[in-house]
Amino acid sequence: MSDRVGEKYGVLGERVTLKHGAGGRAMRMLIEDKLAAGFAPLADGEIGLAAMDDGAAFRLGDGWLVVTTDSHVIHPVFFPGGDIGRLAVAGTVNDLAVMGATDVLGLTSAMVIEEGFPQSDLERIQRSMQETCQEAGVTIVTGDTKVMGKGELDGIIINTTGVGLAESIVSDSGLNPGDRIVLTGPIGEHGIALMAARRGLGLEGDLRSDVAPINDLIRTARGAADGSIVAMKDPTRGGLASALTEMAEKSGVGIVIDEASVPVTDVVRAAAEILGLDPFHIANEGKAVIGVRPNAADAVLTALRSNPQGKDAAIVGTCIDEHRGRLILDTGFGRRLVSEPEGEPLPRIC
Ligand code: MG
Repeated sequence: MSDRVGEKYGVLGERVTLKHGAGGRAMRMLIEDKLAAGFAPLADGEIGLAAMDDGAAFRLGDGWLVVTTDSHVIHPVFFPGGDIGRLAVAGTVNDLAVMGATDVLGLTSAMVIEEGFPQSDLERIQRSMQETCQEAGVTIVTGDTKVMGKGELDGIIINTTGVGLAESIVSDSGLNPGDRIVLTGPIGEHGIALMAARRGLGLEGDLRSDVAPINDLIRTARGAADGSIVAMKDPTRGGLASALTEMAEKSGVGIVIDEASVPVTDVVRAAAEILGLDPFHIANEGKAVIGVRPNAADAVLTALRSNPQGKDAAIVGTCIDEHRGRLILDTGFGRRLVSEPEGEPLPRIC
């Protein structure tokens, strides 16, 4: 029986599709039901695989050891505002940072390279990783290199794993009714810049990915908040909508977002319209969503704005006791539920 006939009659079972890697509901279901099942949990209070957070957190003395890992398959490898090397460093540093581990002990780098990949491109990627590491105050401490035959993969895949220390950690599930939601800057820049480049929109001069390490920015925010930051997440694949839905579900609160307060640049808004995409669903690679106790929200905002990376930070929403697990958009004309994207139609975005 051919695969196609088998699939038609359901004999071969379900296959993994691109939507399972897109950061939305389909991906979470695959991970929860299949990939994360069957492993022993960590000790009580520690954060392991079942928490589906940005990384894992182990108790270490009086503090915490945080670990995270990410594979980067972005296409094209060089894009407006960055490249796969910058992304591989920033992506992992940021996952550590939003768990509270802004001081990174080290990163690993594992590369799988396609036969025929230009060595000059590899050197360019390497230089970019070095520069981004310097920006973040981190270094690569060990790595691995594999080469596969021509056509067996497309270009290069880079996996980075990061290890960091934190005095206290921040999960993505600590929101309570009344808490404010702070966003560190405009949304949609990474995904929209990438899609515009792929489709040759000609807006590349103005549209640039926001890919950057934000551990220093998060350190600034935490320094001002003195324990009042109760949840954080980086809104990567699936965008702001996915990140906030996940935070609402895990925390058991509703989140109301004031649409007018969410920063979106004019060029991203224009390109998103041409591409038929919603900036709320688009990946960011240099932003964080921060849940703050109400009395500390202004202090966190002021601290963020004092750092160039957070100059456009804004308080964009509030947690409520109703509509638990849901994200509600206040458009100024009324309120509507925002759905988490099932599977973002943008493969190889990170
Ligand atoms: Mg993350």
